[in-house]
Amino acid sequence: MDFETIRHKDEQYIEPIYARFQVGIAHGKGATLADFAGREYIDFTSGIGVNIFGMNDEVWKEAVISQLNKVQHACNLYYTQPQTELAELLCQKSGAKKVCFSNSGAEANECAIKAARKYNADKYGEGRRYEILVLNGSFHGRTMATLSATAQPAFHQYFTPFLEGFPSFDPDWQSFSAAVTDKTGAVMMELVQGESGVTLLDFDFVRKVEEYCKAHDILFIVDEVQTGNGRTGKMYSYQQFGVQPDIVTTAKGLGGGLPIGACLFFDKTEFVFHYGDHGSTFAGNPVCCAGGAAIVKRLDEELFAEVTRKGWHIYTEMNKLSKVSKVSGMGMMIGIKTDKPARAVAERCIEKGLFVLTAHDKIRLLPPLNITDEELEKGLKILREVIEE
Ligand code: PLP
Repeated sequence: MDFETIRHKDEQYIEPIYARFQVGIAHGKGATLADFAGREYIDFTSGIGVNIFGMNDEVWKEAVISQLNKVQHACNLYYTQPQTELAELLCQKSGAKKVCFSNSGAEANECAIKAARKYNADKYGEGRRYEILVLNGSFHGRTMATLSATAQPAFHQYFTPFLEGFPSFDPDWQSFSAAVTDKTGAVMMELVQGESGVTLLDFDFVRKVEEYCKAHDILFIVDEVQTGNGRTGKMYSYQQFGVQPDIVTTAKGLGGGLPIGACLFFDKTEFVFHYGDHGSTFAGNPVCCAGGAAIVKRLDEELFAEVTRKGWHIYTEMNKLSKVSKVSGMGMMIGIKTDKPARAVAERCIEKGLFVLTAHDKIRLLPPLNITDEELEKGLKILREVIEE
């Protein structure tokens, strides 16, 4: 099928819920992708932070194919090796005590929301400390509960009534303290807010919130769906802040390209769920878990140092440009504010052979973590040219 046919059939048969760029991806290797006409592009997106070892990664493919040759799905009534192996790896890398698998980031957050409510219902009585405070500008997913937890007005059209119990606060102490009430049972936040503009939170503020939560038995939940799996230069962004969450959610890069999410439970929350409290047919699918294990095994200090080095290089290079007014983020999760609309920059980049993302009014970069220096320079050259045009 050629690109025009695909585009036409897409228009005819698929709900138009995505603002697709006018380009298709036919194949790729690492951070170099090709469209259906064979034209090449440098990828600064990783499929929104998913393909952290790039396209067509041999190690991941080998793990996935080898599992496909054994068991493609078993459901959660039976034991499988990849699920156990990935859970153990995640606990070892994070200090978590238990893992609950899901199929996406939103579902991992649903799991965290349910766990927070259950923890508080068990301890303080049903319906007493059910509120989960969320940060203004947060993005936690598209399901009804995670949309309710997403404190961005743009996402709050059409679908009322939302789930109650998600008061929001600004990232400052006064706003946070004003939001806390005797109904507060948890706080949930991204430490680098992705979708709303790659905003890095203030370290002292995050530590103060964590300390307050600890002192008042309020669960501290960190959404690492976008920031996790090495993206910021550590396994999880909370490790950069020196805080210890009670629950962490992860997805995107965890699967390396296949849909998987996970909710990690630490000391306080390890025993919240019992038989029947949560579940999913597909969650922890053995193929996804085998791929995930092949990803997580390679998330080590050497890789994190490379992420920090490359991220810092992008940050420095972008800051040199006169038309760039702000560069934000952490590691290889970078937001760039220029004098042009972000979407126009992204479209122009495609014309010149580069994929970038947008986040609110910023250009957002989430390159594969193993992008080569050569690919990085090629992409940066295009981005520089487009920004300075
Ligand atoms: N949480 C954060 C911080 C995200 O960035 C996203 C997706 O972009 C989600 C949750 C939802 O993840 P998914 O799209 O896998 O449901």
